[in-house]
Amino acid sequence: MSLATQSITALRQQLTAGQITSRDIVESVAAAIDSTNDSIGAYLSRDLDRALAAADAADLSLPLGGIPIAMKDNINVQGEPCTCGSKFLQNAYLSPYDATASRKLKESGAILFGRTNMDEFAMGSSTENSALQVTRNPHDLDRIPGGSSGGSAAAVAAGAAVAALGSDTGGSVRQPASHCGVVGLKPSYGRVSRYGLVAFASSLDQIGPLTNSVEDAALLLEAIAGADPRDSTCLDQPVPNYRESLNKGVKGTRIGLPAEYFGEGLDPAVRERIESAAKALEAQGAELVELSLPFTKHAVATYYIIAPAEASSNLSRFDGVRYGNRVDKGTGIVDMYGTSRAAGFGAEVKRRIILGTYVLSSGYYDAYYTRAQKVRTLIQQEFQSAFQKVDAILAPISPAPARKIGEAKGDPLKDYLADIYTISANLAGVCAISVPAGTVPSDNGKHLPVGLQLIGPHLAEETILRIAKTWEDIR
Ligand code: GLN
Repeated sequence: MSLATQSITALRQQLTAGQITSRDIVESVAAAIDSTNDSIGAYLSRDLDRALAAADAADLSLPLGGIPIAMKDNINVQGEPCTCGSKFLQNAYLSPYDATASRKLKESGAILFGRTNMDEFAMGSSTENSALQVTRNPHDLDRIPGGSSGGSAAAVAAGAAVAALGSDTGGSVRQPASHCGVVGLKPSYGRVSRYGLVAFASSLDQIGPLTNSVEDAALLLEAIAGADPRDSTCLDQPVPNYRESLNKGVKGTRIGLPAEYFGEGLDPAVRERIESAAKALEAQGAELVELSLPFTKHAVATYYIIAPAEASSNLSRFDGVRYGNRVDKGTGIVDMYGTSRAAGFGAEVKRRIILGTYVLSSGYYDAYYTRAQKVRTLIQQEFQSAFQKVDAILAPISPAPARKIGEAKGDPLKDYLADIYTISANLAGVCAISVPAGTVPSDNGKHLPVGLQLIGPHLAEETILRIAKTWEDIR
């Protein structure tokens, strides 16, 4: 049994008691990667020698001392590849620096081991948009792990990572966590530095942990959160000890159930899991409050204007000169940019760049981009007024469990629409977590995980972690 199936806390106890070494954990993770990567394909690359050297030098007195953490392949780690799941960056880039989240993990004693697969440039919800590799759901190999942090979620679920980091622009930590049956936390915007995370949509992106337990998510958030002079959107707010309040229960906690998150399109079996979790929390003393968030119906359209708009600008740096593989077949520099980008980017990334460029073009800017920004403000305000009435919101993560691989081929809208429950938290900048809420039976006798979402006000990670922990203890 891989040591990676255990929580960080459990491993830390054994490490400090001298029962195991950090090298044991890294070797166990490496063996789990070797035995699962052909079937599940969670990892794009790993450097075992580096990890073993770091393990032997690990300072066990630090909070994450000796613990290996897998990294989504869009978070820079000095000396390692950072492909973003794209052919454009494959064998074309070794990171010259650490992202702030990577640096902070190292400073907490963690060993950054392994690069996980993802939808190209984090655009997608299935990891099928990776140009490099297929990743499968450990609960059913015919199904997607979710995405875009599908490699990170599948690695943790398969016992091939103790924990991992991912990035969440519109659900990319929470949705794969839900589909793979692990915990996934999207911090509030500004809680974690984005420095060194390859930018997709800068006003939405946040790095977050994927873990075996709520406590591990709290531990990792403590390690990576906090002010950073290298990211001016990162807030200079003290980082609480999130673990301290985890066991305080939910007595008197007001939890909102928004009607729009339980309406048409929600799989009845998923609904049943989420509603029974709500009832279980009520039995623990939480107060359930029915809510309405009417702007939810505009969230998908708003997100799919703002995110591609920002992406079209952020991805201009991939031109075969500053970054990426160069294809130089034309008659000059403009041709060279064009041929490089045509060869380097996959279909979904091109679709987003074209969409984003269109909504920012002079004739359409006001009709699309400005209007989407206005609706975004309304969504933010709607959350602010909901949080006058409740401490947190409880909802599903995804309308259905993980779909089959290939099922949305040629129909990107299908996956866009399934982002309905996750993207509002990004648009509003608030925090949200996915915590396993059991499984539902699928067609072939398998059981597919369902994630329970808890959304909290800006910087109220303590609240959603505490509710999530209460649920985890009673489920
Ligand atoms: N599924 C969404 C998209 O395709 C969200 C992706 C993300 O959070 N990175 O854009």
